[in-house]
Amino acid sequence: MYDILIVGGGTAGLTAALYARRAGRSVLVLEGGGFGGQITASPLVENYPGIPSISGMAFADALTGQALDLGADAELERVAAARRTGDGFVLTAGGRSFSGRALVLATGAKHRKLGLSGEERLVGNGVSYCAACDGAFFAGEDVAVAGGGDSALQAALFLSKRCGRVYLVHRREEFRAEPCHVAALKKRENITLCLSRQVTALEGADSLTGVELTAAGGVRERLPVTGLFVAVGQEPDNRVFADLAELDAAGYVRAGEDCRTSTPGVFAAGDCRTKELRQLTTAAADGAQAAAAACSWLDQAGL
Ligand code: NAP
Repeated sequence: MYDILIVGGGTAGLTAALYARRAGRSVLVLEGGGFGGQITASPLVENYPGIPSISGMAFADALTGQALDLGADAELERVAAARRTGDGFVLTAGGRSFSGRALVLATGAKHRKLGLSGEERLVGNGVSYCAACDGAFFAGEDVAVAGGGDSALQAALFLSKRCGRVYLVHRREEFRAEPCHVAALKKRENITLCLSRQVTALEGADSLTGVELTAAGGVRERLPVTGLFVAVGQEPDNRVFADLAELDAAGYVRAGEDCRTSTPGVFAAGDCRTKELRQLTTAAADGAQAAAAACSWLDQAGL
């Protein structure tokens, strides 16, 4: 029986593990993909305070090593089922069961993909899901952004200060984003709106050389861009935990800045939580907060 079970070995989960271990609590981190989470896909992290520049992989390796060196246990298994018991929680993963008194959900959220041929192959070579992370690599170059929500418009605004021309490709005429973002967008001279169009093909063998757009009427055109920033929403996957913690309509775990869910003993940290800003820094902050809240909950319960 662990003091704290942590689901997710990304920045939030690993930070929770290191804070819980420093508080003397036993911890098991269960990770279904690879330790380090989303940040491992970022070639360069340049917005983490105190670390001017580091690869996402190096950051993830250092954080994983730090948590393990402090004595956190880890299993590379995806949690298939979760339930509450009389004295805590039981997670089933890889055909085994793991018990803990408190539970931290740090399952993250995945960027929705366009589902185009070559999309996965070109990630890091022209295709990106994070303008804030990768925009600097496209300084002076022409790029496209796909999407019409706040993330897409913020990405386009961010990129327009660094890139040559920014094509914003959105499948409708109306934006889902807040009006202030739309107004700001229309004032930028180097942003071209490509409305009622979708990105339907990617060009380039080793790196992106252009994208094909298809208009609502079926007319196709080519944009000669070296970068495509996909911002068509995120997809959390917390269904396994729906009976243990309240989810919002989009599937995020409902919890405030204290990371407490409506279920005693269950905490949510990082991108899987309802929140405004999903960044490396906020994931780390949540991990610390969730661990502190879990330790305090265990202390108060006399466990
Ligand atoms: P979002 O609001 O869900 O917008 C996703 C956009 O992608 C929509 O315009 C959607 O088009 C489009 N889309 C979805 N699937 C697509 C596909 N397969 N092909 C082409 N286009 C597709 O996602 P988000 O922008 O990531 O924002 C997520 C949440 O965070 C929202 O609640 C947003 O308000 C919030 N957020 C807030 C801020 C802020 O500054 N306040 C910043 C970022 C995000 P349709 O419109 O046609 O459905």
